[in-house]
Amino acid sequence: MIKHFFQNAFIQGKWVKNVTLTVGDDGCVAAIETDSAGAGADNQGGVLVPGMPNLHSHAFQRAMAGLGEIAGPGDDSFWSWRSVMYKFLAEIDPEDMEAIAAQLYLEMLKSGFTSVGEFHYLHHQKDGTPYANPAEMSLRVMAAAEQVGLQMTLLPVLYSYSGFGEAAPTDGQRRFIHSTDAYLDLVDRLVAETAGRPGFDVGLTPHSLRAVSRDQLQALAEYRTPEMPVHIHIAEQMKEVNDCLDWSGQRPVEWLLNNTTVDENWCLVHATHLTPQEVQGIAERGAVVGLCPVTEANLGDGLFPVEDFLSQGGRFGIGSDSNINISVAEECRILEYGQRLVRQKRTLIAERNASNGERILSLAVEGGAQALCPGKPAGIAVGAPANYLTLDENHPALVGRGVQNIVDGWLFAGNNSVVKDVYVAGRPVIRNGHHDREEEILARFSTVMKRLATKI
Ligand SMILES: [Zn+2]
Repeated sequence: MIKHFFQNAFIQGKWVKNVTLTVGDDGCVAAIETDSAGAGADNQGGVLVPGMPNLHSHAFQRAMAGLGEIAGPGDDSFWSWRSVMYKFLAEIDPEDMEAIAAQLYLEMLKSGFTSVGEFHYLHHQKDGTPYANPAEMSLRVMAAAEQVGLQMTLLPVLYSYSGFGEAAPTDGQRRFIHSTDAYLDLVDRLVAETAGRPGFDVGLTPHSLRAVSRDQLQALAEYRTPEMPVHIHIAEQMKEVNDCLDWSGQRPVEWLLNNTTVDENWCLVHATHLTPQEVQGIAERGAVVGLCPVTEANLGDGLFPVEDFLSQGGRFGIGSDSNINISVAEECRILEYGQRLVRQKRTLIAERNASNGERILSLAVEGGAQALCPGKPAGIAVGAPANYLTLDENHPALVGRGVQNIVDGWLFAGNNSVVKDVYVAGRPVIRNGHHDREEEILARFSTVMKRLATKI
C-alpha cells in the first residue's frame, strides 16, 4: 500500500481539500479520504488532477515531426504528407522503433498523459516479410512504454487493402499488410504476452474502411471478447468520404453504423466529416470519438462538430496521432480554439458559469479511459489505475490563481512545464518535471535520428 496526500485535488469534476489517496498493490486507487491530515503519506502534497489517456498515437511518426512542412510544387494535403511518411517508415528497424517510442512516451508523461493507445501498423521487415517473431515491432513499442512507465493499450492494426472495394495494397504499404488469419494470430500472441502484465491491454484495430473488407470486419466481430476495445480511423478526409460514397452509396460513418455493431467499446478516430444523422448515431451508440486536434489542424483535416455532439451526450477523448507536438494542454486548447474561430464565440465547450478547461479535461479523461479500457472506472476513482499528476502552482501561468482557475491556467495559458509530478499506477515516474532515465533515452533517440537523417 502507498499513500499520497494533496492539499487540493480535482476529483470527478470537483475540487476537494486535503485528500489522501491509498494505492493498492495492483496499482489502482483503493481508497480516497478527504479532509485528512495526510499522516503516513509518501509525498508533500500539491495540486492534483487526473492523468490524461492518450487514445491515439502512431509512435514512429514522432521521428518525422516537422519534416512534412516543406511545400511541394502543387497543393499540399494529408495525401502529400502521407507520401513523406511512407518514405520515412521504410527505413525504421526494430531498435529504431524502440528508441523513438521511448523518447515519445517520455514526452507524453511529461506533458500529463499517463496511458496511450498505440495504433500500431508498422509490423513487418523492410521487404514486407514478417519478422521471425511476427510480433517483433509490437513488442518493441511495449518495451518502450515499460521503460518509461507509461500504461498502454496496444492496438495492432489490420491493414489489407489500399482502397475501398479491396483494392490491392501499394508497395509503400508492404510493411503493414496482413491476411485475416495472420492478423488474428498476431492478436493472439499479444493477448498472451499482456496477460498478467499490469498496465498493458490489447484492442482490435481495423485501420479504416478503405483498408479492410466487410468479411474482415465480421471476423473481428466474431473474435472480439466483451472487454476488448475496437478502434478505427474514419471520415478524416473528404476524399475518404467521397470514395466511400462511390463504393457503397453511403458515407463512412453511415456505413459503419449500418453494417457493424458499433457500441461503447468502439473508438471512432477523427470522425471529422459528419452529417447531423451521423453525429446523432455515434452519440446514441455511446461510442467514443477520438479527437486529435493538433494533428487534425496540422494535416488540414477539418473540424469535428463538437458542440452538436456534446449536446446529444456524445463522448470524446484526445489523442496525439501523428505526434507532431506532444502536449495535453495544446490538444485541449486547439480543440476549443477551432470551434471559436468558426463560431466567432468563446468558451464553447464549457457549461454556463463554469470552467471551460475543467469540462474539457473531465470529458477527455472519461472518454479516453472508456476508449482504452472500456467498462472500467475512469479518472481518480476507487478501482481506477492510480494515474494522476500535480501542477506547479508557482509556475507563471498559475501563480496567484485560486483553484477554480488552475485547470484553465494550465490548458489555456500554460504548457508542459506546468506539469510537475506524474504518477502511473501510484508510482512517481516524473518528479519535478524529470524522469530518471531521460538522458539515456534521449541519447539513444539522438543516435537513431542522426542515422535516419542520412537515409531520408
Ligand atoms: Zn491516426
